[in-house]
Amino acid sequence: MKDDCIFCRIKDKKIPASIVYEDESVIAFKDIKPKAPVHIVIIPKRHIERVSELESDDSELISRMMLAAVKIADDNGLAGPGYRFVINCNKDAGQEVFHLHMHILGGRKMGWPPG
Ligand code: AMP
Ligand code: ZN
Repeated sequence: MKDDCIFCRIKDKKIPASIVYEDESVIAFKDIKPKAPVHIVIIPKRHIERVSELESDDSELISRMMLAAVKIADDNGLAGPGYRFVINCNKDAGQEVFHLHMHILGGRKMGWPPG
C-alpha cells in the first residue's frame, strides 16, 4: 500500500469505485472517465509502479490478472464482438497512474493503429 496512490486507495476501499471483480490477487473497477462503452481497469493488489517492474516471481500474478481480465471481458458481453487490453508504460504511452493496471476496452469498434 502506497498512501498517495489512488489505485491502492481504491483497493483498500478508502475511496469509492465501481468494483466489478475482486479476488485475492487482483481487483477491477470501472474507469472513471470511460473511453469506450465498456472500460474497466484491472490492477494487482500489490503496488507495482509499471509493467516494466514485473519480475520473474510475478509470473503467477500477471497470469492471474490476464485470466481475470478475460473473464471480465466475457462477463461484460465482449467475447463475441471483441475487445482490447491496453497497458500504458511511462510518458510516451500516456501512463497517468503509477500503479500497474490494464485497461479492458470494448463495446465499440477500435481503431488501429492506436493513437
Ligand atoms: P493510464 O493513462 O493508463 O495511467 O490510465 C489511468 C486510468 O485511470 C485513466 O483511464 C483514468 O480515467 C483512470 N482513473 C483515474 N482515477 C480513477 C478513479 N478514481 N477511479 C477509476 N478510474 C480512475
Ligand atoms: Zn498503488
